[in-house]
Amino acid sequence: MDREKCEECGGKIVKKEVDFSLYGTSLGKFTAQVCTKCGEECFDEKTSDEIDQVAKTKGLWGLGAKSKVGIAGDSFIIRINKKLAEFLHLKKGEEVFLRPENKSKLIVEV
Ligand SMILES: [Zn+2]
Repeated sequence: MDREKCEECGGKIVKKEVDFSLYGTSLGKFTAQVCTKCGEECFDEKTSDEIDQVAKTKGLWGLGAKSKVGIAGDSFIIRINKKLAEFLHLKKGEEVFLRPENKSKLIVEV
């Protein structure tokens, strides 16, 4: 579906090749519908499917996951699934740094 006007600001939409990256890994160039006024980028359904396919072949699909908070003694435990741990090259005993970005986001630096 092609849009002619931006839903955000009403600006003119043009087609442009843009670099798309996911989790810091480039997936390549894709045709996006870009607003000339606010820069909002949007992909049509076909392009979104292509992006999903590339993400899957690069093992970047489904890395976001839900996790339940557990408790061990005085500490809280958040489990990281195997797929995500492998993506981050986490090893047992490795030290990571935790910091809140705001009241609803936790950053884990590996
Ligand atoms: Zn716009």
